[in-house]
Amino acid sequence: MHSHHSHSGQFCKHASGSLEDVVREAIRQGFQVYGLTEHVPRYRDVDLYPEEKELSLEELSKQFKDFLVEAHRLKSLYASQITLLVGLETEYITDLDLRGLETLLKELGERVEYLVGSVHHVNGIPIDFDLPTYGSALASFAAENDQGRQEAFLLAYFDAQYELLQRFKPELIGHLDLCRLYTPSLRFGEYPTVCEKIERNVRYAVDYGALFEINAAAFRKQWTTAYPADDIIEIIRSHGGRFALSDDSHGPQAVGLNYHRLREYLIHVDVSELWYLQRSSTSNAAGRTIQAVKFDGEWLDHDFWRQTTT
Ligand SMILES: [Zn+2]
Ligand SMILES: [Zn+2]
Repeated sequence: MHSHHSHSGQFCKHASGSLEDVVREAIRQGFQVYGLTEHVPRYRDVDLYPEEKELSLEELSKQFKDFLVEAHRLKSLYASQITLLVGLETEYITDLDLRGLETLLKELGERVEYLVGSVHHVNGIPIDFDLPTYGSALASFAAENDQGRQEAFLLAYFDAQYELLQRFKPELIGHLDLCRLYTPSLRFGEYPTVCEKIERNVRYAVDYGALFEINAAAFRKQWTTAYPADDIIEIIRSHGGRFALSDDSHGPQAVGLNYHRLREYLIHVDVSELWYLQRSSTSNAAGRTIQAVKFDGEWLDHDFWRQTTT
């Protein structure tokens, strides 16, 4: 079993627990591949979250580099028990983040094994922090009516995602429909212009070989589905997209959380084939030495489920 996306309180102020405890919990639950992907540093004081107010931008950047050191230490230490992949989760707030990431990747080279390509902001405002902040992001678009405002918001989100995909070719597309976190009943089919952008992004990602994350964190955000919901699963599938799983845990208590619901969801949306990332000797489209591998055998009957479903 695998998960490609996680955080820890040691290197992220809105998570809890040490990175080593996250790894130990993943081993205990029987994960075979587990991705450690801390959030990248941010580059403007205004982009610090309330719990980070005592941190300077330099400290934030150091915290990220400390994460990489610890993640690689754990990767070697526990190599006989679990395959740990060391990566990062992107941000796109302003162009500064993309330029910062380019510099960071050049500097860090192979120490960053893969990217989870995520967008958590629209018009520079967080869309997943809380409802009022999401409201500000939405209100930052001028429009004649609510429908038009929602549409402009969604278009901006998927344009940001496209820019990110083009510049970095992330191996995993993180929570593709995070833009509707606070409006889970929103269906993209009501916005044809938005659907065109989603299709464009999905086609692009499929072409360079990305995997699409099915992310269990949506369940703890009171969704009845994982990210992405079924309308997006359908689009991805129609373009031949491949899926991979993540718990997006923010501490040991959330490792594997709601994976039994993830399993039910996968059955419901009829996803019968899963993929995961594995280190490789050849470079992928982004020049990193990691590749997607098909889950061998029936994931539905995997031993892992016996303990998470009981
Ligand atoms: Zn986080
Ligand atoms: Zn995220």
